[in-house]
Amino acid sequence: AILLTAVTLTACSNGSGNGSGGGSTDDAANAQIGLLLPDSVTARYESADKPFFEAKIKELCSGCKVLYANADGDASKQQQQAESMLTQGVKVLVLDPFDGEAAASIVGEAKAKNVPVISYDRLINSKDLNYYISFDNEKVGQLQATALVDKLKKDGVPAGAGILMVNGSPTDNNATLFKKGAHSVIDSSGYKVLAEFDTPGWDPAKAQDWVSGQVSQFKDQIKGVYAANDGTGGGAIAAMKAANVNPLPPVTGQDAELAGIQRILIGDQYMTVYKALKPEAEQAATLAIALTKGQKPSEQTTEVETAGGAKIASILLKPVSVTTDNIESTVVKDNFYGPDSASKIC
Ligand code: BGC
Repeated sequence: AILLTAVTLTACSNGSGNGSGGGSTDDAANAQIGLLLPDSVTARYESADKPFFEAKIKELCSGCKVLYANADGDASKQQQQAESMLTQGVKVLVLDPFDGEAAASIVGEAKAKNVPVISYDRLINSKDLNYYISFDNEKVGQLQATALVDKLKKDGVPAGAGILMVNGSPTDNNATLFKKGAHSVIDSSGYKVLAEFDTPGWDPAKAQDWVSGQVSQFKDQIKGVYAANDGTGGGAIAAMKAANVNPLPPVTGQDAELAGIQRILIGDQYMTVYKALKPEAEQAATLAIALTKGQKPSEQTTEVETAGGAKIASILLKPVSVTTDNIESTVVKDNFYGPDSASKIC
C-alpha cells in the first residue's frame, strides 16, 4: 500500500464509479482491424490504449475483430506483425509506430492492398496515411518544462542552476516534439541544461543508467530533471535514490501512469502530463470502423504536416499538466484506472 504523505485525496474514501454505458451496434460488418502498438516498457499501451480501443470497436461493431500486436521496441518485428495482419485480411491498420520513418514501408504495403492506415499517437513519415490521431505533443513538452521551471523558481533556485534532460526515443516523432516544446521553455528560463540524452526505445533502464552516470559527474549541481515520460522519470528517480541524492530534485513525467501518480503522491516525482487516452483510443476506433465501411468520418480534423511535407487529416487532443493539486480533478474524476481508480492510487 502507498503511504500518502504528500497529499490526501478525498476520493480515496469512496472507491465507487460509473460503469460504462452500452452503445449502438452495427452487425453489418465483421471486419478485422489491426492494432499495432510500439513498446512493452510503457504501461499505457496494454493498460489503457488496447482495452479502450477494443471496447469501442465491440460497441460499434459487434461482429468485428481486433488483431493486436506489440512491437516490443523493435521496428522489424512491427513490420512482420503488420505484414501478418495484412495477410490475414485486415480492413484497416491502426499503427503506433516504433520507428516513424521505418513504418512508412508498412503504410506503403497497406496501400498496395487498399488497406487504410491511421497513424496512432506517433506520426509516421508517409504521405499515404489516411488519418493521424494524437495529442498536441509540442504542448506536452512545454507543460513539462513550464512546471519544472516554475517549481525551481518557486523554490528559490537561482538562475544558472543545472537541469538534466532525459528525452524519449530518437525513433519517435513525438519525442522530437516533446523535446522541442521543452527547449522552447528551458532555453529562455535562465537555467542551464547540464546534459541531455535521447533514451533508446524509451527504456526506463537505459534512462536510469544514464542518470546514474550524470549523478556521479554533476552531483549536487543537478537541481531539476526533465524526464519525457513517467517510465524515464521513474528510471531517473531510481538512479538518484540509489546514489542517495537527498532531497530529490523535481522530476517531470508524462502519461499519468499509476506508478507515476503514486510517486507524485509520495513526493518522489513532481509532475506528470495527463493525456486522456480513452478519447484517443475511442476516436481511433470510430475512425477505423468508418474506414472499414468506406465512409468519410464525421470527426472534425485539422492538418498536420509530416517531415516529408505531406498534409495529413488529424485529430489532436489536449494534454493537461498534473501535480498533487489536480490529480483528483483529472485522473480520478475521469476514472482513468477504471471504476475504482481512486482506491487503486491510494
Ligand atoms: C507517447 C507517450 C509514451 C512514449 C513511450 C510516446 O510516443 O506519446 O505517451 O510514454 O511514447 O512509449
